[in-house]
Amino acid sequence: MLGSTGSIGRQTLDIIAEYPDRFRAWLLVARSSADLLIQQARQYRPHMVIIADESYYEYVQDALADTDIVVATGTSAIADAVTAPEVDTVVTAMVGYSGLESTITAVQAGKRIALANKETLVVAGELINRLLEGSETVLYPVDSEHGAFYQCLMGERHEDIDKLWLTASGGPFRTMPKEQLSTVTAADALKHPNWAMGAKITIDSATMMNKGFEMIEARWLFGIEPRDIEIVVHPQSIIHSMVAFKDGSIKAQLGLPDMHLPIRYALGLPEGRLASDCRKMTIDDMAMLTMERPDLDKFPLLGTAYEAARRGGTAPCVMNAANEIAVAAFLQNRIRFTDIYNIIEKTMADMPLVEHPNYADYVASNAEARDYAARLVQQVTI
Ligand code: MG
Repeated sequence: MLGSTGSIGRQTLDIIAEYPDRFRAWLLVARSSADLLIQQARQYRPHMVIIADESYYEYVQDALADTDIVVATGTSAIADAVTAPEVDTVVTAMVGYSGLESTITAVQAGKRIALANKETLVVAGELINRLLEGSETVLYPVDSEHGAFYQCLMGERHEDIDKLWLTASGGPFRTMPKEQLSTVTAADALKHPNWAMGAKITIDSATMMNKGFEMIEARWLFGIEPRDIEIVVHPQSIIHSMVAFKDGSIKAQLGLPDMHLPIRYALGLPEGRLASDCRKMTIDDMAMLTMERPDLDKFPLLGTAYEAARRGGTAPCVMNAANEIAVAAFLQNRIRFTDIYNIIEKTMADMPLVEHPNYADYVASNAEARDYAARLVQQVTI
């Protein structure tokens, strides 16, 4: 489990605890949340834990000295551990670009992947798909929308697909007038109406960048052109996405807005569904399901994501890098909400595009775009 202390990581451990005969966490990896990693290690008794930030290594090692759990640190330790024969499934739940390298390692090692780190496909979907072609690896989406597409596409032929309807809650500012967006705070943006998630994705959800990312993620997962993926705002988050077929029929997947559901589904594959005592949906939950068009004027990053997908190459990598820098700055109250838009637009306009990138090009492009966006952040005065 890569990213065990984040929101998806913690919920995945809930599922592992729910089916002790079926799953065992063999490896837990955290970036810097040392105390929670120690607590998880004591509770789930993995073979090994890795704290990626080396400055916490001794602290974690001392805390687990009375156990037989192996403690390691650093990125090369992650790569080694992920390829171990005891690992059959890798849950990729780290945040942002940092997920790319270890996901590539897991693909190359032929591990089954439960993919929760969408940025991996946003940044380097073309590269990941090339690697998947020559390997036995299967990639199961953990994102609720992509889990929905996956389920709707079961038993269907690719050539019968007309388009994908990607649903979006619209986030906390769906009904707020556009003019007020420049004054919202990080605390306002962190109040998501339906989903309990980590801070970074919650801000991405408020700007709707998250939906742009998911469009690109869907493109690579299901081989559908961006022009055939349409975003529909569905504020109740009960319909997790839909597929329209060429005969005019539409299939939708429904469920409560709880990430345990798509995690449980992904971990059950390929055998089938894992029965659960979780709360089940009632008529009241689905009594009022509404749909509306996204406001592209108020949420320009949706258009930016389609433009990045159209340009291809390193354009989505640059967009993602600028977003990570801008969102971090917004969370520290260093820039306004609407500055996130401006920083991403300007970084994309000014960074060079590599049309057919290899891995080194992504690394360089990510570093360059982050530096550039960080300079733009410094120029903002609020
Ligand atoms: Mg999602």
